[in-house]
Amino acid sequence: MLKTLHDTIDNFADSAKAIYGAGVIDLHRPLFEGDERQYVLEAIDSTYVSSVGPHISDFEAVIAQYVGAKHAIATVNGTAALHVASLIKGIERGTEVITQAATFVATANAIAYTGAQPVFIDVDLDTLGMSPTALNEFLITWAERKPNGIYNRLTGAQIKACIPMHTFGRPCRIREISDICNDWGLSLIEDAAESLGSFTRKVHTGTFGDFGVFSFNGNKVITGGGGGMLITDDDSLAKKARHLTTTAKKPHPYNFDHDQIAFNYRMPNINAALALAQFEKLSAILAVKRRLASHWKAFFGETPITFLEEPEDTESNYWLNTVLLEDEAAKDLFLRDTNAKEIRTRPLWNLMSDLPMYHQCQNDGLPNSKWLKQRLANIPSSVPSGSLCAGDR
Ligand SMILES: *Cc1c(COP(=O)(O)O)cnc(C)c1O
Repeated sequence: MLKTLHDTIDNFADSAKAIYGAGVIDLHRPLFEGDERQYVLEAIDSTYVSSVGPHISDFEAVIAQYVGAKHAIATVNGTAALHVASLIKGIERGTEVITQAATFVATANAIAYTGAQPVFIDVDLDTLGMSPTALNEFLITWAERKPNGIYNRLTGAQIKACIPMHTFGRPCRIREISDICNDWGLSLIEDAAESLGSFTRKVHTGTFGDFGVFSFNGNKVITGGGGGMLITDDDSLAKKARHLTTTAKKPHPYNFDHDQIAFNYRMPNINAALALAQFEKLSAILAVKRRLASHWKAFFGETPITFLEEPEDTESNYWLNTVLLEDEAAKDLFLRDTNAKEIRTRPLWNLMSDLPMYHQCQNDGLPNSKWLKQRLANIPSSVPSGSLCAGDR
């Protein structure tokens, strides 16, 4: 069996090199083969490089239209977007927010910035995102309905909201999660940072909750160098988000007047220029990523390594391709050997419940998250250079 794994790793390395060429193969690197240079130069020449400029509103408009949301508010990064969404939904010191243990640290950090405590629950083995079953179980076990909201029987704190995440671009069971949140009166904020271009039954991820959040960090599906976006259908939430991300400045031609403590969280125009050019390549990027995924699915077919296809009833952007090894030893061997060959594979993030700053937070035991932590690896998922304009290959 180990021989088979060794052979598979060797063949995998050959196949990755055939796709990406010689040299280090990154996990996910951006590709600038559209109008990126032109748009960034336009921003520079216009002198609008900072938090005012036409590229920002253009970028907001195309994202709102693409995902099917009424409003989009651009931010400096996805973490800032999550922070502001949390504040607007009344998440504050003394309250709690349910999220998943298997996520990037930004999800938990954004909750902690408000002073609230995260509670970590399990993910589903197929979607890798928050499990509605685990959410339901947690609420039935610990939540108590009171006239002004629901309270955690263990801690006495009010549970305000739920923040599920669409892991590696794979849509989680967001409809079920949304139903549960409605039933218990919980706010729903979707961390869709990784899932631009991912749909569940034709509806874009991020559009099911009070707010959805995207990220345009350098490793995401498209990038502005940095950047984030809040989306919502609610006029009043959108207005608050716009206000809170722009130092709460009251609109006026020349006066500077601010009516609350707020944030300098607006996306700079120079980043929006880059992101806008990237957005124009989004459907080409998604098509190439889909072809890469089907290559790896076929490749791993008869091997001891399992390639994870998009969850049933969903369309994934295949942001980071994901495989499962048979056990922890096999996963460690895979990571060691591929990285030794300069192929940047990596394990699942350390679970939030294992990080020192979140170690004391309540969790539900996390059996699936722990099982996945032992076996999961991400494999290089960049769009190969030249493939956006070279047509099918
Ligand atoms: C990237 C990411 C974020 C944060 O985005 P930044 O733009 O890097 O701040 C939040 N949550 C998840 C799950 C992410 O992957």
